[in-house]
Amino acid sequence: MNNLDLFGKTFSCSCGRRHSIEPRKVLFTADALSQLPAVCTELAGGAKLAAVMDVRTRQVAGARAVEALTRGGWEVKEVVVADGPAGRLPVCDETMCRAIEQAAGGGVGAVVSVGSGVVTDLGKWMAFRADVPFVAVATAASMNGYASANVAPTIAGVKSLFSARAASAVLAEPDVIAAAPNEMTAAGLGDVLAKSVSSADWRVNQILFGDYYCGRAVALIDELEPMYLRRPEDLRERKPQAVEALFHALILTGVAMTMAGNSTPASGGEHLISHSLDMMSALDGVSHDLHGRQVGVGTILAGELYRRVLAVESPVLSEPAEGIDRPFWGSLADVVAGQYAGKIERLRIAKAALSGGGTWDRLRQEVQPMLRGPERIRDCLTRGGAAHLAEHIGCTRRRLLGAFIHAHEIRPRFTVIDLARLVGVLPAAAEEIVEQWA
Ligand SMILES: [Zn+2]
Ligand SMILES: [Zn+2]
Repeated sequence: MNNLDLFGKTFSCSCGRRHSIEPRKVLFTADALSQLPAVCTELAGGAKLAAVMDVRTRQVAGARAVEALTRGGWEVKEVVVADGPAGRLPVCDETMCRAIEQAAGGGVGAVVSVGSGVVTDLGKWMAFRADVPFVAVATAASMNGYASANVAPTIAGVKSLFSARAASAVLAEPDVIAAAPNEMTAAGLGDVLAKSVSSADWRVNQILFGDYYCGRAVALIDELEPMYLRRPEDLRERKPQAVEALFHALILTGVAMTMAGNSTPASGGEHLISHSLDMMSALDGVSHDLHGRQVGVGTILAGELYRRVLAVESPVLSEPAEGIDRPFWGSLADVVAGQYAGKIERLRIAKAALSGGGTWDRLRQEVQPMLRGPERIRDCLTRGGAAHLAEHIGCTRRRLLGAFIHAHEIRPRFTVIDLARLVGVLPAAAEEIVEQWA
């Protein structure tokens, strides 16, 4: 079965699970918006919908979406999410979610979001809280959250993550996606390029801890990747085929997360570097760059980490650190310490597992083929017009180094960064890696 035919299907997988693939419907067609009312009729009860958007996405698709829905007989409560101070993009947090709930009023049969990262997250969250279906109208190929159940809000300055509800349908007009600002499409490229590292991290977790792993979920975008990676310039030049392939790859990466039941397949050490930058920005009260742009830079660093880690023939294992660097995290130290505490036991198990029985050799053998070298990652990002240096994501090398050194503290998840610390590559090589690559 073609991976793009999987939507809405339920099947038994070689991983031992039965997967039910949400979204049920993905439409990437010029008439997507005119199909929106019928899609909502299929999914939603009642007569009223909430349509969430921001000022920019209202212009490119939101107003037309509301028009189409109204013409289709729906009562639509349009909610335009306000920008942050000084024209900054809206944030996804509890206050914002409540504000849009209030603006929409009760009794909606479904939530429709028209936008990309933040707007999609807010719509997903609101639909989850109201326990109604969620429909995402995408306006940029900028991130993989359209089809995933995850919401990544900022709660008390901490980049958080929880599982809400996957979109039942994702709709997009090719012209709107291709016309999105170049930096957004390039951010999407950064987010999908993370896959080689995050999949490798997932495999490492299976090898060390016996965690659930699904090879089918890992392979979902294999056929699409060449369509944008062979000539990443096509994305910058807005070539329809490349943009469409990237869009579908982002959707399928979201699907992989839903298959796994968490974000592991698409979010490893490279994502922790980006999340750390977000949290450092919250601490300093400054803005950070787009998720996918930071993730791209994180992916280069993680790629280099894997190269150095897997080159170690017989590792001398370090003792896991007992705590975090509290001064570095300032007012977030307690929250970060709580997250790290959830990982210490896992670090001990990892150390024990690596100490015996040929586990190290097996890990090296199985993980190596999944990886892409940092040169190749950087080349794709560069040619696709994406950020690949610290300065491109608005930070100094020192700041990026801070994120790189502390990223393992912010989540209980075991990633290549923890592995690199266990085998002694980090923290020793951190500065050299940042100097060399960022
Ligand atoms: Zn599976
Ligand atoms: Zn991501």
